[in-house]
Amino acid sequence: MTTKKTAAADHASLVRMLRDEDFASLAARAYALKTEVWGKRVALRGLVEVSNVCARNCLYCGIRRGNAKTARYRMDEDEILAAVAWAAENRYGSVVLQSGETDDEPSALFFERVLRHIRAELGDGLGITLSLGERHRDVYRRWLDAGANRYLLRIETSDPELFARIHPAEQSWRTRLECLRTLRDLGYVVGSGVMIGLPGQDVDSLARDIEFLRDEGVDMVGMGPYIAHPDTPLAAYAPRLEREQLLDLSLRMIAAVRLAIPDANIAATTALQAIDPEGREKGLLAGANVVMPNITPRKYRGDYLLYPGKPCTEEDSELCRGCLERRVKSIGEEIAWGERCDPVHFERRTR
Ligand code: SF4
Repeated sequence: MTTKKTAAADHASLVRMLRDEDFASLAARAYALKTEVWGKRVALRGLVEVSNVCARNCLYCGIRRGNAKTARYRMDEDEILAAVAWAAENRYGSVVLQSGETDDEPSALFFERVLRHIRAELGDGLGITLSLGERHRDVYRRWLDAGANRYLLRIETSDPELFARIHPAEQSWRTRLECLRTLRDLGYVVGSGVMIGLPGQDVDSLARDIEFLRDEGVDMVGMGPYIAHPDTPLAAYAPRLEREQLLDLSLRMIAAVRLAIPDANIAATTALQAIDPEGREKGLLAGANVVMPNITPRKYRGDYLLYPGKPCTEEDSELCRGCLERRVKSIGEEIAWGERCDPVHFERRTR
């Protein structure tokens, strides 16, 4: 693993990468850089979707509170601990606890207890990422004190006007930005990302997204293609891009982020696989270095549908593990079993 400084890709060169550069040469440049920083290794994060209860109403999301067709669930503490223990036993190195957003004290306390319990049972070796939405500084601090290391909070778009068009008025871009900065100040390893292919979004806007992620000092990047969920208000807008174009743009975004932030952890997200069966492998070959296999108990997976066509909702965790290992090997990479793989970017940022 080598340290790389943030590259000074300017706006025009980012636009060129997203629109004009030959894709094969762009991906080759990004993959070479990924290999230089990380070697031919892929970091694993076991994803536990702990609850699909959400107080928010994002216009694109299948588990928004206004979608009465979603059957709601909450994993209890024992179920979460069992999933996390399975990840540790299977040398996942790191887990992500993700949930819809519920800004209340009982949920703050619940996660605090779960985190302390995980640390008491499994020690400090496992990386724990939270993805639980916008919360107050005190809650973020309590979760950090209880054992969390990292936090994922997608900005979704760096354009406040576009953000306002895809969220209800009660949600604010500024608040989300402040949460990201709070997380960084508190000492979390911070992750963020954007949706790609939103109605009203262009290449210029996506290039600004990359600049935003770089300039905000984000350590981990998770981006996904926008896939319309039929039970959401945003689905009323006709898709702007065909699947092939969406895949091309999503892979270009991964490559351009790798070139702009060489030492960030970048995920090849499951949503990529939803638009192409080999989407995750293609993401890795375009410069991503992280995959997040789903280790949620199978009985809940079908209810955490942020978008339709989500893969791996029927397989159990054991099957996903074997499938993933085969997929990663097929492209000449190895899984970094048992390693936390903290982003080099974070080490450099906090040195
Ligand atoms: S995107 Fe997140 S906060 Fe928004 S409705 Fe979906 S789960 Fe809730």
